[in-house]
Amino acid sequence: NISHEFRTPLTIVNGVIDELLNTQTEQRYTQSLEVAKRNNLRLIHMVDQLLEVSRLNAESIIIGDFNASDWLAPLCQSYQTIANDKKIDYQVSICEPILIHGNQQAFEKVLYNLLSNAFKYTREGGSVNVVLEELDSNYQLIIADTGIGISKHEQANVFNRFQRSESLGDAAIPGVGIGLALVKDLVTAMQWNIELSSVVNKGSQFKVTMPKANKSIDELPTSNNSISDSSQIALLTEEVKVHEKAAPVRKSKFMVLIVEDNFDMQRHLETIISPHHQCLVASNGTQ
Ligand code: ADP
Repeated sequence: NISHEFRTPLTIVNGVIDELLNTQTEQRYTQSLEVAKRNNLRLIHMVDQLLEVSRLNAESIIIGDFNASDWLAPLCQSYQTIANDKKIDYQVSICEPILIHGNQQAFEKVLYNLLSNAFKYTREGGSVNVVLEELDSNYQLIIADTGIGISKHEQANVFNRFQRSESLGDAAIPGVGIGLALVKDLVTAMQWNIELSSVVNKGSQFKVTMPKANKSIDELPTSNNSISDSSQIALLTEEVKVHEKAAPVRKSKFMVLIVEDNFDMQRHLETIISPHHQCLVASNGTQ
């Protein structure tokens, strides 16, 4: 009930950080501000997802026809920056026109969550493929990756709230397990279908089947998507850029080993400790 109360102060903090980022030129400050900004955006995103989940429980979403022809390809393309950063081979193949029966915002959220996960759970050098094609009276959206995969017995569970897969192992990939639960709720609310097939260490494929619109292309003007800022998408897609480690400063004879799986927290601890002691940083015990 109080989720929405978090949104305003977080948005204000976001604005203040932007203001500082625009006026600040010193690199040590801009780096810290970028970390603050990324984590603040992540909080806003989580609050939005919580709000969306509670809204879905409270009321049903409005279903109708929409035209995604103009914005779907550019939206998918905005992930190219993340693909380049992570050295992931990224291919998008989308049919035209795209006239869907459902809810546009819900579709954007489904796409956003599935694509973000594909990049999040795929290692450097892997690949992510998006295919949208027409099949009789439906469209089929396939988002496939060559990432860490999800074991057979966990495949149904990952759609439950707060469930994360064991395949994560020691990988320091942050997340809370709301995204897929939201995807499932949205897909169900629109009477669409979602299927997951996955093999551990080989990859995952999410297939969404959506009915075609009843209206024709002349009756459906194209609209803009609401997630348009690709830089925001890049920021939200977690720790794509692993920070460069600061050179150890030899202030004391002590060496501090920081073991922390959140990269931003790692960096934060390192910034505090490194002026006094030598630092070694690892993401997990095995490392
Ligand atoms: P989050 O990513 O925040 O943990 P999600 O609800 O989006 O939450 O996903 C739930 C879990 O499903 C993830 O924690 C991860 O273990 C698994 N998962 C989701 N998408 C993928 C994917 N493309 N490849 C491998 N595992 C995935």
